[in-house]
Amino acid sequence: MPNDMHSERLAILGGKPVRQRPWPRWPRADENTEKNLLDVLHSGRWAISGMYSGRKPYERQFAEAYAAFNDVSYAVPVCNGSASLVVALQALNIRPGDEVLVPGIVWVACASAVTRIGGVPILVDVEPDTLCMSLEAARKAVTPRTRVIMIVHLYSGFADIDGFVKLSQETGIPLLEDCSQAHGARWKGRRVGTFGDIGVFSLQDSKLLTCGEGGVAITSDPRLYGLMEQLRDDGRRYTVSPPPLGHPELEEIGTVQGYNYCMSEFHAAVLTDRLRHLDGENRVRHENALYLEELLAEVGDVRPLRRRPEVTQPTYYHYGLLLNRQAFGNYKSDVIRRALMAELNLFMEPVDDPLNQNILYNPLRSPRTREALKEALNPARFDLPVAARVHKDCLTFSHSVLLDDREGMEDIARAFSKVKKNHHLLSQLA
Ligand SMILES: *Cc1c(COP(=O)(O)O)cnc(C)c1O
Repeated sequence: MPNDMHSERLAILGGKPVRQRPWPRWPRADENTEKNLLDVLHSGRWAISGMYSGRKPYERQFAEAYAAFNDVSYAVPVCNGSASLVVALQALNIRPGDEVLVPGIVWVACASAVTRIGGVPILVDVEPDTLCMSLEAARKAVTPRTRVIMIVHLYSGFADIDGFVKLSQETGIPLLEDCSQAHGARWKGRRVGTFGDIGVFSLQDSKLLTCGEGGVAITSDPRLYGLMEQLRDDGRRYTVSPPPLGHPELEEIGTVQGYNYCMSEFHAAVLTDRLRHLDGENRVRHENALYLEELLAEVGDVRPLRRRPEVTQPTYYHYGLLLNRQAFGNYKSDVIRRALMAELNLFMEPVDDPLNQNILYNPLRSPRTREALKEALNPARFDLPVAARVHKDCLTFSHSVLLDDREGMEDIARAFSKVKKNHHLLSQLA
């Protein structure tokens, strides 16, 4: 790009953007995805509660494929990621007032799933360079009422799995791994989501594996599996052997109070196809991320979230970048982000606000919140100094960008470089 006056005018101020070409679209589908969907459409069975048609439902096919993919015994598909959390927490026997450790920065569903079933989320501060729950802070937050430790691998960061497994073993408190942002990642060769008692995944539109709206919980514990199976379908479970044609494939067990959180056949049909692409897509993203990191190191003052050496297959739900904002004129990251978005014709997202100051997390506004728990649930009672500081220095963009070619990575680095060099012009916006 010629270094003339015009090209250096920031796009947000009317200059020529670094890139106009569109970025790769997400979600993806091909003829095989379409074939599976049409197959369901004409199959005479759209839900697991539909009548047996002589074939294994897609929901079961996906459950088996996803369990095999993760090398665990069982998977329970559900209607969304939040439901996977609810079903998992119920299987782990959260009772009213029980405490669950939840990271201070995370999607609101991680905390609201706990309050939905009467539990108390204990907001735990995060590590400054991975944004994931701090092991040290978690250790301090454990009380005799702690019933579950929920860790989340956030954006492109990973929690200290070995440390949390050890904490769980020492305290006897079950570990729940929310891998909604890390499908297919490996820790020392083993898939994430398999280290705790249960692993859960959202399969919502933006995620690395998606059917629009969906979720899945995995475990190797037959007892937890049996509970989750019933919890997600009003107390029913699949019959051991197939029923006669045209009969229900579910039997009524009812040893727990279940609800309907089932995944439809259409969703499972999409997932059964898309799962085959997950590892390959994750490899492409990783190669591009490594290249981008080389380029950004040259730009300086912008670095990726720390990659732990134990992570042998990284994932990038959103690619998280930490800015040295001083080198960018010390503007709020929102200003820098808007300048970058204009250069790249790309939506970039700030990091979620810490849950003690998050507009979406309102346990005290729920009419069902018990008076006795109001003090415990007040988000403002938690002190999250690291979260409060680092979330302001970080911005993220979707994993789909990392499915672009190498030129795309060069565009991103060029945009950072241009905004950094010309940050003085941003005073007009601030
Ligand atoms: C997306 C997400 C959820 C919620 O999943 P939904 O499918 O939107 O209900 C929960 N936890 C994390 C970490 C997520 O990223």
